[in-house]
Amino acid sequence: MEIPACDLKRQHLELAPELERAVAGVMASGRFVLGENVCRLEEELASYVGTKYAVGVANGTEGLILALEACGVGPGDEVITTAFSFFATAGAITRLGAKPVFVDVDPLDFNLAPQEIQARITPASKAIVPVHLYGKAAPMERILPIARRYGLKVVEDAAQALGATAGGTRLGSLGDAGVVSFYPTKNLGACGDGGMVFTSDPEIAGKVRFLRAHGSLKPHRHQVVGYNSRLDEIQAALLRVKLPRLARWTTRRQDIARLYQGHLKRAGLGLPRVGDGDHVFNRYTVTSPDRDELKAFLECQGIATEIYYPLGLHQQEALAYLGYRRGDFPMTERATGEVLSLPMFPELTDHEVARVSEAVLTFTRRRLTSHGGPAGRSLV
Ligand SMILES: *Cc1c(COP(=O)(O)O)cnc(C)c1O
Repeated sequence: MEIPACDLKRQHLELAPELERAVAGVMASGRFVLGENVCRLEEELASYVGTKYAVGVANGTEGLILALEACGVGPGDEVITTAFSFFATAGAITRLGAKPVFVDVDPLDFNLAPQEIQARITPASKAIVPVHLYGKAAPMERILPIARRYGLKVVEDAAQALGATAGGTRLGSLGDAGVVSFYPTKNLGACGDGGMVFTSDPEIAGKVRFLRAHGSLKPHRHQVVGYNSRLDEIQAALLRVKLPRLARWTTRRQDIARLYQGHLKRAGLGLPRVGDGDHVFNRYTVTSPDRDELKAFLECQGIATEIYYPLGLHQQEALAYLGYRRGDFPMTERATGEVLSLPMFPELTDHEVARVSEAVLTFTRRRLTSHGGPAGRSLV
């Protein structure tokens, strides 16, 4: 593809000498697990996100598992979450023997619709997992009061949203715990897997620390069966090189979103709102009823796009036992047929954004003439 959906090589090229020095430093230290780099990164990120504690873990999925377990979620509990997310959100809940209870999304931003939560609360409900999808804040100002009223824990899935804010406060610090992922395509990406759990609750932080190292505080003494889920020193050292650049990368993502918005505002597509800091654009996702044709057209023009996500979580084979049916979450199902994520990464040039936009406009204009109507409409 001439224009990839996400190109990690460009960022690496820019930082290669520094990254290589960081790796060499860890190699020379002989300390590969839970050393100084993990410890420092935890401090740096806790201060960035605005929590008292941060605990490095092996990946975002296990971060969710450990955070939920530390919040007391276990077998038989119900956890309310969105039907429209990456599989890991539901997978983590299921791994604990708990039951994911899905809620439909708001068609404006594809985040969990708060007005749908109340009807799903039962005596077995234990927690809510809002997902800040594509990097856009879920409506925490409405979710948190519901959780408080019913005594539910809130674990934010902020895997795509490190750096985004809600009401001026960083995501990941609003719930009882927040989880981010350092998967390479996330806004702060490692050169492999990694994740972090954020909390200001000393008990939750302590439990996550304990669980990530086999439920052990003293060598060879295990009070509970935990996990082996640690962030490693090499990834932490690499992330510490990248962290000071995160603010600049985030601004660039938001600038690219603004450029797309300018070019595409009359394309007849559903576009994400470019607001203040509440969206950090891990993905720039548009909607079109002709999504599959648009994707194929762009591919012919050398432009790669992605579909996040082609199925609702309730439609996943692995979760069929939950008994949901097609039609249960109409907004989610509509989104799965209409969403398309255009190329988005900080190193994408203005010229490339213009080229992608021109290709999109060529497609929508052709549709306009062949259909005699608008090529697409907003999802709302
Ligand atoms: C990436 C992602 C995760 C999982 O993170 P990993 O580090 O890949 O395990 C969880 N939830 C969402 C919404 C994600 O995008």
